[in-house]
Amino acid sequence: MSFPNFSEYIIIGAGIHGLSTAWRLAKKLNEQDEDVEGRIVVLEKSGIASGASGIACGVVRNNYFQPAMRELMAHSVNLWESDPSGLHYHPVGYMQISCEAMRDDVSKIYEQQQAIGYESVFIEGENASTKYMRGIFDDWQAKGITSVLHEKKGGYSNQTKAMYSLASKVEALGVRIITGVEVKGFNLSSGSDTVKSVETNLGTIDCERIVVGAGPWVRDFWNMLDLPKQIQVKDLKGEIHNDVDMWRYWQLEEGVLKVEPDTLKTNDGNIPPVIHVDTDAPLISDVDGSVITKDMWGIYYKPDWHFGGIQGGASPYKVDTPVDEVKVDPYGPSSPEFISSKEFAHMWVSALAHCHKRFEGSMPKYHKDPSGGIGCFTPDSFPVFDHFKENVAVIADSNHGWKMIGVGHLIADEILGDEQDLLKPFRFDRFSKGELHPVSNSPYPWS
Ligand SMILES: Cc1cc2nc3c(=O)[nH]c(=O)nc-3n(C[C@H](O)[C@H](O)[C@H](O)COP(=O)(O)OP(=O)(O)OC[C@H]3O[C@@H](n4cnc5c(N)ncnc54)[C@H](O)[C@@H]3O)c2cc1C
Repeated sequence: MSFPNFSEYIIIGAGIHGLSTAWRLAKKLNEQDEDVEGRIVVLEKSGIASGASGIACGVVRNNYFQPAMRELMAHSVNLWESDPSGLHYHPVGYMQISCEAMRDDVSKIYEQQQAIGYESVFIEGENASTKYMRGIFDDWQAKGITSVLHEKKGGYSNQTKAMYSLASKVEALGVRIITGVEVKGFNLSSGSDTVKSVETNLGTIDCERIVVGAGPWVRDFWNMLDLPKQIQVKDLKGEIHNDVDMWRYWQLEEGVLKVEPDTLKTNDGNIPPVIHVDTDAPLISDVDGSVITKDMWGIYYKPDWHFGGIQGGASPYKVDTPVDEVKVDPYGPSSPEFISSKEFAHMWVSALAHCHKRFEGSMPKYHKDPSGGIGCFTPDSFPVFDHFKENVAVIADSNHGWKMIGVGHLIADEILGDEQDLLKPFRFDRFSKGELHPVSNSPYPWS
């Protein structure tokens, strides 16, 4: 097939958001008896799932402190649940296991989950929490835990399998995915703010609508669209902060303990929920008995047959390099700079042993391959889903996004003229208006 010189809809990025947008757009056009063939192209500079979507841990959860995030996530979880086998989704549930400093926040999350009908159980008190956890894992031994939020929905999905499955779905609907095409810039119609064509390394493509789903590369598209590198932010107290960088990078630390995934089955032999623990109990090295930290720490983990072991991660750290100098390519495990550190491995495996006796002494089984990757975050660490120029939609998920499979659907609906209430709290102008999302006491920038 020859390289197109026109496509009505151009979607940039074959990650979860680009493909989810293409999926809904094509489906809607089909439903309206419109021919999709040749009207939607996805342009991808590398390959399908070569960005963050290809290395995500795959966790799908809803324990968000922010009401707007919770409602949006409930919509996405429903989409995962609509086709578990087709999307390689395991609806095993999710547990937020916390120390006292987080109990109030998590209790609010629980109350609001009940209000929107999102099924969950909340256990409070140290003894009750330990008893509940030992009912699931008889070797549970984490200290200082005073609440357990057990979300019965959510779970995890196998990222690359899910991505290839999504790609097949969209191609079957008539969407063309072209890999090896790098978008270099946008051309405006003269005298207007409408993008009339996209410049690529293989030529120019005229278009009517564009969706940018570029994950960690969103910084580059923001610059191509001539949007402000620094912005004014009005915080929740009404204070104004000038010249705040629009983007910053964080390094996500993840890894795999190469033991049989079955090692982490529940007492009754089932696959457990995804486990997330946040605590301020001192973390002691499982290798040499030294104190790793006395501050709040957090980990998450799950048995994963796709990764071949117990897979998970810990709190990320902020990348100090000035944002325009951060080298996003080569991305993920191929990066010479942004992969999980030895310190992470030591901390994470010791934390696993802090939680379960079965993981004591397992440091030698930590995998040797590089893992982890960077994410591009907004000033308040929550997504921007908005429309710029006259015809460009930007999906910038601030690294929340594997679980947000529904966002592309909502953006597709907006492009077809139907504004979505679920997306309104994520518009760019919330920073100048002071309509930021509330923040919790979690050690993560994304909770
Ligand atoms: C280590 C790690 C673990 C994570 N774990 C989870 C998790 O468990 N749960 C969760 O919900 N989220 C998780 N996330 C976050 C999640 O992976 C991302 O938020 C999400 O995958 C972003 O999807 P995307 O479609 O926006 O971007 P991507 O998947 O990065 O896709 C963007 C695509 O755009 C392409 N592209 C970039 N520039 C150009 C260009 N100029 N021209 C053409 N194509 C271009 C890239 O090659 C890439 O394929 C994790 C992230 C990381 C890094």
